[in-house]
Amino acid sequence: MFPPAPLETIDWNRLGLSIQDNVNGHVESTYSVATGEWSAPRFIQDPYIKIHGLAPALNYGQQAYEGLKAHRGPDGNILLFRPTAHADRLAVSASYVSIPEIPQDHFMKCVKLACARNAEWVAPHSSEALMYVRPLVFGSSGHLSLTAPTEYTFAVYVQPGTTYHGVQPLPACVIEDFDRAAPRGTGGAKVGGNYAPVIRHTDKARSQGFHVTLHLDAQTRTCIEEFSTSGFIGIKKNGDQVTVVVPDSKNIVQSITSDSCLALAKSFGWKVEKREIPWSECKFMDEVIAVGTAASLLPIRLLARPSTGEKFVFGETTGECTLRLGTALRNIMRGKIADEFGWTMTVNEEDLLLEPTSAKPIPEISNGVNHELNGVAHVNGNGIAAPVEVEVKA
Ligand SMILES: *Cc1c(COP(=O)(O)O)cnc(C)c1O
Repeated sequence: MFPPAPLETIDWNRLGLSIQDNVNGHVESTYSVATGEWSAPRFIQDPYIKIHGLAPALNYGQQAYEGLKAHRGPDGNILLFRPTAHADRLAVSASYVSIPEIPQDHFMKCVKLACARNAEWVAPHSSEALMYVRPLVFGSSGHLSLTAPTEYTFAVYVQPGTTYHGVQPLPACVIEDFDRAAPRGTGGAKVGGNYAPVIRHTDKARSQGFHVTLHLDAQTRTCIEEFSTSGFIGIKKNGDQVTVVVPDSKNIVQSITSDSCLALAKSFGWKVEKREIPWSECKFMDEVIAVGTAASLLPIRLLARPSTGEKFVFGETTGECTLRLGTALRNIMRGKIADEFGWTMTVNEEDLLLEPTSAKPIPEISNGVNHELNGVAHVNGNGIAAPVEVEVKA
């Protein structure tokens, strides 16, 4: 029977986002410049990847990633949320850092394989937990010159986690002394280089009581771009008329959560505007939300700008529009209401990519990784101490 039931030993509502190294494994596929093709996906029962220390991924930041989610529907089925939109965005991000495109069907095959082989790690329908899926791609062969290497690796990891739906609105502040993205830079890509430099600024903001940080446009510092790991949505109410505004900028990651909220807003009969948003306009907003796959819809309580002393307050409780959008999105993701947008995609038994007569034992192939990391043998969820590569049908 596919999919298997969720593991019974997990306290799904208390997972947080700590790494669970005992999931069943990850998927890898390699691209060789010589053949111009991505290899058939391999399922590897191990969280580690063997990589050349001189790979451009480690030295030059030649890397891009995605983040998407899977949930259980009411019937126990596994539903991926908008996976093809994530495939398309990874292709865009990869092009920024000169990585060959991963065709959408190959992305889907690898993502579904990772979910199918880890199906018991997808939380019960009734829980608040989710399966976070992290595809990543990087230049993986040893290569010193700043030219294209000969090999790239695409990997898909999954991690169970818990979002904090219904959290109290959080305070956010503008980051003043750092620009995340240059006007003609890489801000539109989900590439590692856009994130590590932000950490020290978000750490500082958090120490001052701001859990969320906002970036303004680098050129004029007058317009809203996005939060450090999520998109910006502003909501204005005028009687019964609701208007949703989102920034239109080439320097921000095109949020799929935001796009979904806009589609829902239109279906509610609300007005939708995608345009430049001057910072000063925030003063007139009734609700502000930080939106992203990991955070879902995070209501913002206030926006502060330390350099000017401005502080725009939106309220201590989650706004009614935020609540309506969040509930609708959540219900579609979990198959609770009809998916009229065609956003969810089911993971099926054939996505396991098993040979039809898989009664034969799975071949065990060591990938050569030294598992005695820090002197401690790593044992994964299956109690297998050595990495095992599972052959899958092409
Ligand atoms: C991933 C990300 C988002 C949100 O994108 P979603 O598709 O909604 O998950 C927004 N901004 C940044 C900087 C991001 O990295």
